Amino acid sequence: MIRLYNTLTHKVENLTLQNSPTVNIYTCGPTVYDYMHIGNWFTFIRYDLLIRTLKASALEPNWVMNITDVGHLTSDADSGEDKLAKKAGSEGKNAWDIAKFYSDYFIKSLDKLNFIKPNQIPKATDHINEQIDFISKLEQKGYTYRIWDGIYFDSSKFSRYADFARLDLDEQQAGARVELNPEKHNPTDFALWKFSPTDKHRDMEWDSPWGRGFPGWHIECSAMSLKYLGETLDIHCGGIDHIPVHHTNEIAQSEALTEKPLATMWIHANHILISDEKISKSLGNTVTLEDIEQKGYTPEVLRLLVLESHYRSQSKFSWESLEAAKTRLLRYKNFAVRRYQTEGDITLNPPELLNKLQDDLNTPEALAELETFLEKADNLKLSKVSIESSLSLIDDLFGLRLLDTPDINDALKQSISDREQARFTKDFARADAIRSELEKNNLTVLDTPTGSIWQYLS
Ligand SMILES: [Zn+2]
Repeated sequence: MIRLYNTLTHKVENLTLQNSPTVNIYTCGPTVYDYMHIGNWFTFIRYDLLIRTLKASALEPNWVMNITDVGHLTSDADSGEDKLAKKAGSEGKNAWDIAKFYSDYFIKSLDKLNFIKPNQIPKATDHINEQIDFISKLEQKGYTYRIWDGIYFDSSKFSRYADFARLDLDEQQAGARVELNPEKHNPTDFALWKFSPTDKHRDMEWDSPWGRGFPGWHIECSAMSLKYLGETLDIHCGGIDHIPVHHTNEIAQSEALTEKPLATMWIHANHILISDEKISKSLGNTVTLEDIEQKGYTPEVLRLLVLESHYRSQSKFSWESLEAAKTRLLRYKNFAVRRYQTEGDITLNPPELLNKLQDDLNTPEALAELETFLEKADNLKLSKVSIESSLSLIDDLFGLRLLDTPDINDALKQSISDREQARFTKDFARADAIRSELEKNNLTVLDTPTGSIWQYLS
């Protein structure tokens, strides 16, 4: 039984599936105009943890994550510049090159961060026809209107528009004085298709029944989720930023078209803060995976840091917290290398991590459970099989690649046994000399009542 907090009902609910064991799940993916910052990665890693939890629960996620490679303007409200075109302009490149470069980078990074591979990673630019078709159908049903810069969705025709995000539409109406697009009928109306400027050529533009242009941001998720997963998703995920605009608009256009709920369950990951501020390019406080790697942290350290906070709480990033996660990961790895050294035969049941994850993805409690397990394990001569079965469970759920922690080579093993021999013959000078040699190889030796065990120092 998996329980998750459903944004739609504001309650933790049992996950119900239309076609168990299949889980049709759609997660809003990246806009590919730059390196992802860790706020994006936190959200995406949380998607991956959900997928891992579903799989470990004997379910079969059919996971679609889109790539937004067109039409996402700098403001969610259909104004501002196109993010891709802006980046292309600033680098003297074509928007297509920017999109290709950062899509490839994103997909490579998924491997690097040990993601379960989504079943589909559709790109908006590969689904222009589906989007045009979707808009045409909305037009036939009378939900659209045309103004100078595009085709818009008339949010007043969708009576539940405010429900999902509990929006105060009167307040938005009052705020409409600052509306940049006075031809819009309602402040919450949004672009389905934007027209290309008549005086200049865009890198990305397509013909449509309404004229040359490009799709608005929100329509791609409705069109692609419909194509790959059908009318009603079991789970739709995103960041909490998506609730008031992007997901509200997805619901409006999809449900206007299909007259079915777009998703049974909506899961949203909270923000992360850096030095108590929201991550934003304009504050100049962004940190990327590349920054983290440059400082010597592996992608697994970032994954572990993500696990330390609950997805619905506002987590904080600091270099100190990353360092603490690294120390914690080292403890796990040194448990992992015990399997190369053990001669024990005790079996300890693997930690009960899945229960915690099935309880609204309670990763902090899962880590606490793991901590208790490791404390117990420290005092037992576990068998190789017992250690490995726990490691494989931890890796399946957390993706920490603990089973990949390498053994040491024969020469180092020989040094360790030479050192033990030296200690046995009370040649402490030689034992110490070997110890410092081992430290240069990132190893330490702990002398326990049952013999020496080696561990990694970092
Ligand atoms: Zn989306």
